[in-house]
Amino acid sequence: MLKIENLHARIGEREILKGLSLEAKPGEVHAIMGPNGAGKSTLGNILAGREGYEVTAGSVRYGGIDLLALEPEERAAAGVFLAFQYPVEIPGVNNTYFLRSALNAQRKARGEAELDSMQFLKLVREKLAVLHLDDKLLQRGVNEGFSGGEKKRNEIFQMAVLEPKLAILDETDSGLDIDALKNVAAGVNALRSPERAFLVITHYQRLLDYIKPDVVHVLADGRIVETGGPELALELEQHGYAWVKDRVTPEA
Ligand code: ADP
Ligand code: MG
Ligand code: MG
Repeated sequence: MLKIENLHARIGEREILKGLSLEAKPGEVHAIMGPNGAGKSTLGNILAGREGYEVTAGSVRYGGIDLLALEPEERAAAGVFLAFQYPVEIPGVNNTYFLRSALNAQRKARGEAELDSMQFLKLVREKLAVLHLDDKLLQRGVNEGFSGGEKKRNEIFQMAVLEPKLAILDETDSGLDIDALKNVAAGVNALRSPERAFLVITHYQRLLDYIKPDVVHVLADGRIVETGGPELALELEQHGYAWVKDRVTPEA
């Protein structure tokens, strides 16, 4: 589904990704861990097509196509979803309206019929039930006045409605207390499916107590320096990132 090879990217003059390779198959959950400043968010942003990054080498294949050649909206329509570390607030824009517009834009881009309000409401009710969420969420402005936990829950809800094939969560756990963290993890687990891959970016191991990854990668200094099973996350927890940094060979 996703094959990243030797990806190099920079912001301005500064090289951030320095030959990153990673492969994910449908149904898999990959955790991407690493120290602050390693390039984790950069990777997520580049996959989603956010501005400000220049890819200087390497490739990203997504379902056999060149992902980097697509516009951000085309990527979204093709099923790529990025949940932000700091979700934006859109005061005054009703959550339901926002989601329906986003979903219909994607359906239109795929050549599918748009959903009318009845169809959309049916879909939304299904997703709320799957995630055990309250429908109060629907009437509020997008993230307006939401607590940290509510914002993250809303992101998971957005993800549920948009039904992505590749879901990227960037530090969805940051700033959450343990109950909110469990809620978010339960939401992600409910959305795991054989057709969907997740990249779960996290600095801390604790989210992975609740979302069991199939594969764990350590990203340090712009590269994947270690790949393993869930036990790798526990090792990191024990030893910190210092022992990984030792493996990062300085550039010649
Ligand atoms: P992580 O998510 O792993 O903490 P990031 O991908 O956010 O790391 O950042 C990687 C590096 O790129 C960091 O050194 C950071 O300071 C730098 N960086 C990120 N965004 C910008 C930007 N807009 N301008 C300049 N440098 C940036
Ligand atoms: Mg960071
Ligand atoms: Mg980050």
